[in-house]
Amino acid sequence: MHLTFHGAAGTVTGSQHLLSVNGTRLLLDCGLYQGARAEAAFRNRNFPFPPAEVAAVVLSHAHIDHSGNLPNLARQGFAGPIHATHATVDLCDYMLRDSGHIQEVDAEYLNYRAQKKGEPAEHQPLYTEADARATLPLFAEQGYERPFPVAPGVTATFYDAGHMLGSASLILDVEEAGRHVRLAFSGDLGRRGMPLLRDPVLLADVDYLILESTYGGKTHHPHNEAQAEFKALVKQTVARRGKVVIPSFAVGRAQELVYELSQLIHTGEIPALPVYVDSPLASQTATIFWGHRSLLDAEAQAFMEANPSNDLFGFEGLRYVQSAEESKTLNGQAGPMVIISASGMCENGRIRHHLCYTLSDPRNTILIVSWQAPETLGRRLADRAKEVKIFGDTYKVKAQVATINGYSGHAGQDLLVEFAAVLKPRLKGVFLVHGEPAAATALQAALAEAGVAGVHIPTLHERVEL
Ligand SMILES: [Zn+2]
Repeated sequence: MHLTFHGAAGTVTGSQHLLSVNGTRLLLDCGLYQGARAEAAFRNRNFPFPPAEVAAVVLSHAHIDHSGNLPNLARQGFAGPIHATHATVDLCDYMLRDSGHIQEVDAEYLNYRAQKKGEPAEHQPLYTEADARATLPLFAEQGYERPFPVAPGVTATFYDAGHMLGSASLILDVEEAGRHVRLAFSGDLGRRGMPLLRDPVLLADVDYLILESTYGGKTHHPHNEAQAEFKALVKQTVARRGKVVIPSFAVGRAQELVYELSQLIHTGEIPALPVYVDSPLASQTATIFWGHRSLLDAEAQAFMEANPSNDLFGFEGLRYVQSAEESKTLNGQAGPMVIISASGMCENGRIRHHLCYTLSDPRNTILIVSWQAPETLGRRLADRAKEVKIFGDTYKVKAQVATINGYSGHAGQDLLVEFAAVLKPRLKGVFLVHGEPAAATALQAALAEAGVAGVHIPTLHERVEL
């Protein structure tokens, strides 16, 4: 059997690992690659294997860099199934349709610009909302810690990865020619003690591990420090009567931030101020979180029990903005206020409009709370660019730009090492994916120090025998 790393190799996005076993092919994740436009378009459009020959996809979680190319895979001949947890399936329903819509809008915009320059309008969306809709029936819902068959000789089991609602690490039990191999994939691994989510489950008894390494070189500040920084920044901005603008993933991070603000306002630690969640997807996601509230951690369960009227994602002063018209009215309103809007890396969505209106005013705070891919507007802001281009216009960055790393949904180096080290008795090899080279190399060194042998950082399209 062999494993080929067709994405998230030497980089963080585009998660896609192909396992060939018993004459069939299984794909672990099918994410969108995000980065420089032309390269991303090429890589996302062209699969390095025939989609029709993939027997099944096992999906770790709903984030677009793990699930976002599924509609394209299906459009190019993949017939299913896509195995995922119940919550992941519910989230993908919204997220993939939303992604298809974004692809269509992007293509329209590029065509509009091409026409203005007298060039042919030949941009096609990677896939459409209709393609995303057609992918949904291919999903097969699975529970945590309940083995299910995926292909001849291959059984999979999901474990809670504590990274987002429905997120999973997984183990594949593979029988081939009398050999039994246990291959684990961490998916994106979460952290202990984060709001809403349960702690990640440590795995046991595996031969090979595909391990994410986003924060392989770093150990995070604990969550309570992040909360203290958040509190201080909100208070400072309120004192300036400014706006706190937070680019956020609509799914997961937005609900954590709302829950965090709800707690801080509830306990009087920050003044009650208007909070706008300007992302229809975030508001739909809050409903999905509520539907799967039994998956949330003990603290959230206790809060719900003590405050039966509080639905976790709603409080006085909080408004979910639905229409684009209402979104625009926020531009003219005076602060203080908090605006949480998508996309998380500022590459598209309503956040770009909010940035246009807030970046050049020193009263405002742009708060970065998640990892930003290279070449994205979010990364340029996080790197403290003095000016940035949005929709072709240049804006001076005069607002305070702050980064809080403590909200990361990814395990830091300490937990990544622990996750691998508990497997030492049986472990024959570890493949580090989903990390920039510096992070993966740092994790490799830390793992060596912890006595974990056979750690390899695969290059894109590298194939390894198991
Ligand atoms: Zn993720």
